[in-house]
Amino acid sequence: MELYIHIPFCIKKCEYCDFLSGTSTESERARYSEAVMKELFLYADDFKDEIVTSVFIGGGTPTFLEADRMVRIMECVHSYYNLSSDCEITIECNPKTATLDSLYKYREAGINRISIGLQSVNSDELKLLGRVHDYNDFLRTFENARKAGFQNINIDIMTGLPGQTEEKLQKTLRAVYMLRPEHISSYDLIIEEGTPFYDKYASDLIRRDRGEETLLLPNEELEEKLSNQVEDFLISHGYHQYEISNFARPDKECRHNKGYWERVPYLGIGAGSASLIAEHRWNNVRDVYKYMEAIENNELPKVCLHELSKNEAMEEFFFLGLRKNEGVNRLDFENYFELTVDAVYGEVLRRLKSENLLIENAGQIYLTKRGRDVSNFILADFLLD
Ligand code: SF4
Repeated sequence: MELYIHIPFCIKKCEYCDFLSGTSTESERARYSEAVMKELFLYADDFKDEIVTSVFIGGGTPTFLEADRMVRIMECVHSYYNLSSDCEITIECNPKTATLDSLYKYREAGINRISIGLQSVNSDELKLLGRVHDYNDFLRTFENARKAGFQNINIDIMTGLPGQTEEKLQKTLRAVYMLRPEHISSYDLIIEEGTPFYDKYASDLIRRDRGEETLLLPNEELEEKLSNQVEDFLISHGYHQYEISNFARPDKECRHNKGYWERVPYLGIGAGSASLIAEHRWNNVRDVYKYMEAIENNELPKVCLHELSKNEAMEEFFFLGLRKNEGVNRLDFENYFELTVDAVYGEVLRRLKSENLLIENAGQIYLTKRGRDVSNFILADFLLD
Protein backbone atom coordinates (compact mmCIF):
# COMPACT_ATOMS: atom_id res chain seq x y z
CA MET A 1 0.00 0.00 0.00
CA GLU A 2 0.91 3.66 -0.26
CA LEU A 3 0.60 6.52 2.17
CA TYR A 4 -0.24 10.14 1.29
CA ILE A 5 0.11 12.96 3.82
CA HIS A 6 -1.41 16.36 3.03
CA ILE A 7 0.08 19.57 4.43
CA PRO A 8 -2.30 22.39 3.40
CA PHE A 9 -0.10 25.42 4.14
CA CYS A 10 1.64 27.84 1.77
CA ILE A 11 3.38 31.18 2.20
CA LYS A 12 0.80 32.72 -0.11
CA LYS A 13 -1.80 31.43 -2.55
CA CYS A 14 -0.67 31.31 -6.19
CA GLU A 15 -2.99 32.98 -8.71
CA TYR A 16 -3.96 29.75 -10.48
CA CYS A 17 -4.12 27.38 -7.53
CA ASP A 18 -7.23 25.51 -6.50
CA PHE A 19 -5.49 22.91 -4.33
CA LEU A 20 -6.46 22.64 -0.68
CA SER A 21 -3.90 25.11 0.60
CA GLY A 22 -3.73 28.45 2.33
CA THR A 23 -1.88 30.65 4.75
CA SER A 24 -1.55 29.72 8.43
CA THR A 25 -0.24 30.81 11.80
CA GLU A 26 2.51 29.01 13.67
CA SER A 27 -0.02 27.71 16.22
CA GLU A 28 -2.27 26.36 13.44
CA ARG A 29 0.67 24.49 11.96
CA ALA A 30 1.53 23.09 15.40
CA ARG A 31 -2.04 21.93 15.99
CA TYR A 32 -2.32 20.46 12.49
CA SER A 33 0.93 18.50 12.87
CA GLU A 34 -0.37 16.98 16.10
CA ALA A 35 -3.58 15.98 14.30
CA VAL A 36 -1.63 14.34 11.45
CA MET A 37 0.46 12.35 13.92
CA LYS A 38 -2.65 11.26 15.77
CA GLU A 39 -4.41 10.24 12.56
CA LEU A 40 -1.37 8.14 11.62
CA PHE A 41 -1.70 6.49 15.02
CA LEU A 42 -5.47 5.94 14.70
CA TYR A 43 -4.99 3.93 11.49
CA ALA A 44 -1.85 2.10 12.58
CA ASP A 45 -3.58 -1.00 13.88
CA ASP A 46 -5.73 -1.44 10.75
CA PHE A 47 -2.65 -1.54 8.52
CA LYS A 48 -0.14 -3.29 10.78
CA ASP A 49 0.15 -6.23 8.36
CA GLU A 50 0.60 -4.10 5.23
CA ILE A 51 3.89 -3.16 3.61
CA VAL A 52 4.09 0.51 2.66
CA THR A 53 6.03 0.91 -0.58
CA SER A 54 5.76 4.67 -0.96
CA VAL A 55 4.99 7.74 1.11
CA PHE A 56 4.14 11.05 -0.56
CA ILE A 57 4.02 14.25 1.46
CA GLY A 58 2.12 16.75 -0.66
CA GLY A 59 0.28 19.99 -0.32
CA GLY A 60 0.16 22.88 -0.13
CA THR A 61 3.81 23.29 0.67
CA PRO A 62 5.06 20.58 3.04
CA THR A 63 8.46 22.29 3.25
CA PHE A 64 6.71 25.36 4.73
CA LEU A 65 5.93 23.28 7.82
CA GLU A 66 8.73 23.67 10.37
CA ALA A 67 11.30 20.94 9.62
CA ASP A 68 11.28 19.64 13.19
CA ARG A 69 7.55 19.05 12.94
CA MET A 70 8.08 17.15 9.68
CA VAL A 71 10.74 15.05 11.38
CA ARG A 72 8.27 14.14 14.14
CA ILE A 73 5.62 13.21 11.56
CA MET A 74 8.16 10.97 9.84
CA GLU A 75 9.06 9.36 13.18
CA CYS A 76 5.38 8.40 13.52
CA VAL A 77 5.34 7.00 9.97
CA HIS A 78 8.40 4.87 10.71
CA SER A 79 7.18 3.63 14.07
CA TYR A 80 3.52 2.89 13.20
CA TYR A 81 3.88 1.43 9.68
CA ASN A 82 6.01 -1.26 8.00
CA LEU A 83 7.96 0.54 5.31
CA SER A 84 9.62 -1.59 2.64
CA SER A 85 13.41 -1.37 2.69
CA ASP A 86 13.37 0.54 -0.61
CA CYS A 87 10.33 2.66 0.26
CA GLU A 88 10.14 5.81 -1.90
CA ILE A 89 9.47 8.80 0.39
CA THR A 90 8.77 12.06 -1.44
CA ILE A 91 8.29 15.57 -0.14
CA GLU A 92 6.94 18.42 -2.28
CA CYS A 93 8.90 21.64 -2.01
CA ASN A 94 8.44 25.28 -2.91
CA PRO A 95 11.92 26.74 -3.53
CA LYS A 96 11.35 29.66 -1.16
CA THR A 97 10.77 27.42 1.84
CA ALA A 98 13.61 24.88 2.10
CA THR A 99 17.00 25.62 3.66
CA LEU A 100 20.12 23.47 3.61
CA ASP A 101 19.51 22.69 7.26
CA SER A 102 15.88 21.59 6.69
CA LEU A 103 16.91 19.50 3.68
CA TYR A 104 19.48 17.65 5.82
CA LYS A 105 16.78 17.04 8.40
CA TYR A 106 14.44 15.56 5.78
CA ARG A 107 17.17 13.21 4.59
CA GLU A 108 17.92 12.11 8.16
CA ALA A 109 14.19 11.47 8.63
CA GLY A 110 14.33 9.02 5.70
CA ILE A 111 12.85 11.23 2.99
CA ASN A 112 14.68 10.15 -0.18
CA ARG A 113 12.93 12.04 -3.00
CA ILE A 114 12.11 15.71 -3.39
CA SER A 115 9.77 17.34 -5.89
CA ILE A 116 10.55 21.00 -6.47
CA GLY A 117 7.91 23.30 -7.96
CA LEU A 118 9.80 25.54 -10.38
CA GLN A 119 7.14 26.02 -13.11
CA SER A 120 9.29 28.39 -15.21
CA VAL A 121 12.70 30.03 -15.21
CA ASN A 122 11.28 33.26 -16.66
CA SER A 123 10.70 35.88 -14.00
CA ASP A 124 7.71 37.44 -15.81
CA GLU A 125 5.97 34.05 -15.88
CA LEU A 126 6.72 33.34 -12.21
CA LYS A 127 5.34 36.75 -11.29
CA LEU A 128 2.23 36.22 -13.37
CA LEU A 129 1.61 32.87 -11.68
CA GLY A 130 1.95 34.51 -8.27
CA ARG A 131 4.83 32.24 -7.24
CA VAL A 132 6.75 33.46 -4.19
CA HIS A 133 10.14 32.33 -5.51
CA ASP A 134 12.44 33.39 -8.31
CA TYR A 135 14.80 31.32 -10.43
CA ASN A 136 17.74 31.93 -8.07
CA ASP A 137 15.73 30.60 -5.11
CA PHE A 138 15.12 27.48 -7.16
CA LEU A 139 18.78 27.07 -8.14
CA ARG A 140 19.88 27.41 -4.54
CA THR A 141 17.28 24.87 -3.39
CA PHE A 142 18.27 22.40 -6.08
CA GLU A 143 21.97 22.67 -5.19
CA ASN A 144 21.20 22.36 -1.47
CA ALA A 145 19.06 19.30 -2.10
CA ARG A 146 21.97 17.61 -3.90
CA LYS A 147 24.32 18.68 -1.09
CA ALA A 148 21.98 17.20 1.50
CA GLY A 149 22.09 13.89 -0.39
CA PHE A 150 18.93 13.82 -2.50
CA GLN A 151 19.70 11.57 -5.46
CA ASN A 152 16.16 11.54 -6.72
CA ILE A 153 14.81 14.98 -7.60
CA ASN A 154 11.76 15.96 -9.60
CA ILE A 155 11.23 19.40 -11.11
CA ASP A 156 7.73 20.63 -12.01
CA ILE A 157 7.32 22.90 -15.03
CA MET A 158 4.20 24.28 -16.74
CA THR A 159 2.95 24.88 -20.26
CA GLY A 160 0.01 26.86 -21.61
CA LEU A 161 0.85 29.97 -19.58
CA PRO A 162 -0.56 33.31 -20.70
CA GLY A 163 1.94 34.90 -23.09
CA GLN A 164 4.12 31.77 -23.22
CA THR A 165 6.11 31.35 -26.41
CA GLU A 166 8.18 28.47 -27.73
CA GLU A 167 11.33 30.51 -27.00
CA LYS A 168 10.38 31.04 -23.36
CA LEU A 169 9.55 27.38 -22.90
CA GLN A 170 12.83 26.40 -24.55
CA LYS A 171 14.70 28.54 -22.02
CA THR A 172 12.99 26.70 -19.16
CA LEU A 173 13.62 23.28 -20.72
CA ARG A 174 17.30 23.99 -21.31
CA ALA A 175 17.86 25.37 -17.81
CA VAL A 176 16.12 22.39 -16.21
CA TYR A 177 17.99 19.88 -18.35
CA MET A 178 21.35 21.45 -17.40
CA LEU A 179 20.71 20.32 -13.82
CA ARG A 180 20.07 16.70 -14.85
CA PRO A 181 17.17 15.99 -12.48
CA GLU A 182 16.03 12.38 -12.32
CA HIS A 183 12.42 13.28 -13.09
CA ILE A 184 10.50 16.12 -14.73
CA SER A 185 6.74 16.69 -14.56
CA SER A 186 5.22 19.05 -17.10
CA TYR A 187 1.66 20.20 -16.46
CA ASP A 188 -0.66 22.17 -18.70
CA LEU A 189 -2.10 25.18 -16.94
CA ILE A 190 -5.71 24.45 -16.03
CA ILE A 191 -7.78 27.50 -15.28
CA GLU A 192 -10.11 26.59 -12.45
CA GLU A 193 -13.22 28.45 -11.37
CA GLY A 194 -12.83 30.36 -8.14
CA THR A 195 -9.19 31.35 -8.76
CA PRO A 196 -7.93 34.85 -9.66
CA PHE A 197 -6.80 33.35 -12.99
CA TYR A 198 -10.38 32.41 -13.78
CA ASP A 199 -11.51 36.01 -13.29
CA LYS A 200 -8.72 37.20 -15.59
CA TYR A 201 -8.84 34.58 -18.31
CA ALA A 202 -12.35 33.07 -18.36
CA SER A 203 -13.40 34.99 -21.47
CA ASP A 204 -10.22 33.94 -23.26
CA LEU A 205 -10.88 30.37 -22.25
CA ILE A 206 -14.32 30.52 -23.84
CA ARG A 207 -12.77 31.92 -27.03
CA ARG A 208 -10.25 29.08 -27.09
CA ASP A 209 -12.91 26.43 -26.49
CA ARG A 210 -14.85 27.84 -29.46
CA GLY A 211 -11.73 27.57 -31.59
CA GLU A 212 -11.49 31.39 -31.85
CA GLU A 213 -8.32 33.46 -31.58
CA THR A 214 -7.29 34.19 -27.97
CA LEU A 215 -5.97 37.45 -26.49
CA LEU A 216 -3.68 36.27 -23.68
CA LEU A 217 -3.77 32.50 -23.44
CA PRO A 218 -1.98 30.39 -26.06
CA ASN A 219 -4.48 29.40 -28.75
CA GLU A 220 -5.26 25.71 -29.35
CA GLU A 221 -2.54 25.33 -31.95
CA LEU A 222 0.18 26.90 -29.81
CA GLU A 223 -0.96 24.93 -26.75
CA GLU A 224 -0.45 21.69 -28.65
CA LYS A 225 2.90 22.88 -30.01
CA LEU A 226 4.14 23.66 -26.49
CA SER A 227 3.18 20.20 -25.19
CA ASN A 228 4.88 18.56 -28.18
CA GLN A 229 7.95 20.72 -27.62
CA VAL A 230 8.28 19.39 -24.06
CA GLU A 231 7.92 15.79 -25.25
CA ASP A 232 10.38 16.19 -28.12
CA PHE A 233 12.96 18.00 -26.02
CA LEU A 234 12.89 15.65 -23.04
CA ILE A 235 12.75 12.44 -25.05
CA SER A 236 15.67 13.57 -27.22
CA HIS A 237 17.62 14.41 -24.03
CA GLY A 238 17.35 10.97 -22.46
CA TYR A 239 14.08 11.13 -20.56
CA HIS A 240 11.47 8.46 -20.94
CA GLN A 241 7.84 9.60 -21.02
CA TYR A 242 5.93 7.11 -18.89
CA GLU A 243 2.74 9.12 -18.45
CA ILE A 244 1.03 12.05 -20.16
CA SER A 245 2.76 14.63 -17.91
CA ASN A 246 5.71 12.70 -16.51
CA PHE A 247 9.25 12.05 -17.76
CA ALA A 248 12.01 10.14 -16.01
CA ARG A 249 15.53 8.85 -16.29
CA PRO A 250 15.69 5.04 -16.45
CA ASP A 251 14.36 3.48 -13.21
CA LYS A 252 13.42 6.86 -11.79
CA GLU A 253 9.71 6.79 -12.49
CA CYS A 254 7.73 8.01 -9.51
CA ARG A 255 6.54 4.90 -7.71
CA HIS A 256 3.79 6.79 -5.93
CA ASN A 257 2.30 8.15 -9.17
CA LYS A 258 2.51 4.77 -10.84
CA GLY A 259 0.82 3.16 -7.89
CA TYR A 260 -2.03 5.63 -8.19
CA TRP A 261 -2.58 4.82 -11.88
CA GLU A 262 -2.31 1.11 -11.14
CA ARG A 263 -4.87 1.37 -8.33
CA VAL A 264 -2.49 0.27 -5.61
CA PRO A 265 -4.40 0.82 -2.33
CA TYR A 266 -3.52 4.08 -0.60
CA LEU A 267 -4.34 5.74 2.68
CA GLY A 268 -4.66 9.53 2.76
CA ILE A 269 -3.79 11.39 5.95
CA GLY A 270 -4.59 15.06 6.56
CA ALA A 271 -7.37 17.45 5.57
CA GLY A 272 -8.95 16.75 2.19
CA SER A 273 -6.80 13.70 1.47
CA ALA A 274 -8.26 10.83 -0.55
CA SER A 275 -8.02 7.09 0.14
CA LEU A 276 -8.64 3.91 -1.81
CA ILE A 277 -8.68 0.78 0.33
CA ALA A 278 -10.34 -2.53 -0.66
CA GLU A 279 -12.45 -0.84 -3.39
CA HIS A 280 -13.68 1.80 -0.93
CA ARG A 281 -12.96 5.42 -1.74
CA TRP A 282 -13.28 8.23 0.74
CA ASN A 283 -12.01 11.71 1.42
CA ASN A 284 -11.15 13.43 4.64
CA VAL A 285 -13.12 16.57 5.33
CA ARG A 286 -11.55 19.54 3.53
CA ASP A 287 -12.08 22.12 6.24
CA VAL A 288 -8.79 22.20 8.19
CA TYR A 289 -10.50 23.17 11.46
CA LYS A 290 -13.16 20.47 11.16
CA TYR A 291 -10.40 17.99 10.37
CA MET A 292 -8.41 18.91 13.48
CA GLU A 293 -11.49 18.89 15.74
CA ALA A 294 -12.55 15.43 14.55
CA ILE A 295 -9.11 13.93 15.12
CA GLU A 296 -8.83 15.57 18.53
CA ASN A 297 -12.14 13.84 19.39
CA ASN A 298 -10.70 10.49 18.22
CA GLU A 299 -12.99 10.47 15.17
CA LEU A 300 -11.84 9.71 11.64
CA PRO A 301 -12.95 12.67 9.51
CA LYS A 302 -14.14 10.59 6.54
CA VAL A 303 -16.64 12.09 4.10
CA CYS A 304 -17.92 10.87 0.70
CA LEU A 305 -17.35 7.24 1.64
CA HIS A 306 -18.20 5.16 -1.41
CA GLU A 307 -17.85 1.49 -2.23
CA LEU A 308 -16.94 1.10 -5.88
CA SER A 309 -19.18 -1.17 -7.94
CA LYS A 310 -17.47 -3.67 -10.24
CA ASN A 311 -18.28 -1.44 -13.22
CA GLU A 312 -16.74 1.62 -11.55
CA ALA A 313 -13.61 -0.35 -10.67
CA MET A 314 -13.30 -1.54 -14.31
CA GLU A 315 -13.74 2.02 -15.57
CA GLU A 316 -11.01 3.22 -13.21
CA PHE A 317 -8.72 0.43 -14.35
CA PHE A 318 -8.80 1.83 -17.91
CA PHE A 319 -9.19 5.51 -17.00
CA LEU A 320 -6.11 5.55 -14.82
CA GLY A 321 -4.10 2.84 -16.57
CA LEU A 322 -4.31 4.40 -20.03
CA ARG A 323 -2.64 7.58 -18.69
CA LYS A 324 0.59 5.56 -18.59
CA ASN A 325 2.44 5.14 -21.86
CA GLU A 326 2.69 1.40 -21.23
CA GLY A 327 -1.09 1.32 -20.79
CA VAL A 328 -2.88 -1.59 -19.16
CA ASN A 329 -2.32 -5.30 -19.23
CA ARG A 330 -5.11 -7.50 -20.57
CA LEU A 331 -4.31 -10.39 -18.21
CA ASP A 332 -4.18 -8.13 -15.14
CA PHE A 333 -7.71 -6.98 -15.97
CA GLU A 334 -8.97 -10.49 -16.55
CA ASN A 335 -7.39 -11.91 -13.39
CA TYR A 336 -8.69 -9.10 -11.24
CA PHE A 337 -12.24 -8.82 -12.59
CA GLU A 338 -12.74 -12.43 -13.78
CA LEU A 339 -14.13 -11.14 -17.06
CA THR A 340 -12.46 -10.87 -20.46
CA VAL A 341 -11.52 -7.40 -21.68
CA ASP A 342 -13.39 -8.13 -24.90
CA ALA A 343 -16.60 -8.98 -23.07
CA VAL A 344 -16.57 -5.52 -21.47
CA TYR A 345 -14.72 -3.23 -23.85
CA GLY A 346 -14.37 -5.24 -27.10
CA GLU A 347 -16.34 -2.80 -29.21
CA VAL A 348 -14.64 0.33 -27.83
CA LEU A 349 -11.19 -1.18 -28.35
CA ARG A 350 -11.96 -2.22 -31.94
CA ARG A 351 -13.14 1.29 -32.79
CA LEU A 352 -10.20 3.08 -31.14
CA LYS A 353 -7.74 0.73 -32.85
CA SER A 354 -9.33 1.33 -36.23
CA GLU A 355 -9.01 5.11 -35.66
CA ASN A 356 -5.33 4.67 -34.81
CA LEU A 357 -5.87 6.00 -31.29
CA LEU A 358 -5.00 2.80 -29.46
CA ILE A 359 -2.65 -0.15 -29.95
CA GLU A 360 -2.46 -3.64 -28.50
CA ASN A 361 0.83 -5.44 -28.40
CA ALA A 362 1.60 -8.67 -26.50
CA GLY A 363 -1.35 -8.12 -24.18
CA GLN A 364 -0.48 -4.48 -23.40
CA ILE A 365 -3.18 -2.01 -24.45
CA TYR A 366 -2.01 1.61 -24.76
CA LEU A 367 -2.75 4.92 -26.47
CA THR A 368 -0.91 6.06 -29.57
CA LYS A 369 0.66 9.52 -29.62
CA ARG A 370 -2.48 10.73 -31.39
CA GLY A 371 -4.60 9.01 -28.74
CA ARG A 372 -2.67 10.69 -25.92
CA ASP A 373 -3.27 14.09 -27.50
CA VAL A 374 -7.03 13.55 -27.22
CA SER A 375 -6.98 11.32 -24.15
CA ASN A 376 -9.71 13.27 -22.34
CA PHE A 377 -12.19 12.36 -25.06
CA ILE A 378 -11.01 8.78 -25.39
CA LEU A 379 -11.21 8.01 -21.69
CA ALA A 380 -14.90 8.94 -21.69
CA ASP A 381 -15.45 5.94 -24.01
CA PHE A 382 -14.59 3.63 -21.12
CA LEU A 383 -17.58 4.71 -19.04
CA LEU A 384 -19.98 1.82 -18.57
CA ASP A 385 -23.81 1.92 -18.16
S1 SF4 B 1 2.67 26.66 -3.82
FE1 SF4 B 1 1.46 25.06 -4.82
S2 SF4 B 1 -0.14 24.53 -3.36
FE2 SF4 B 1 0.75 26.47 -2.67
S3 SF4 B 1 -0.58 28.02 -3.54
FE3 SF4 B 1 1.10 27.71 -5.00
S4 SF4 B 1 0.36 26.14 -6.45
FE4 SF4 B 1 -0.99 26.12 -4.63
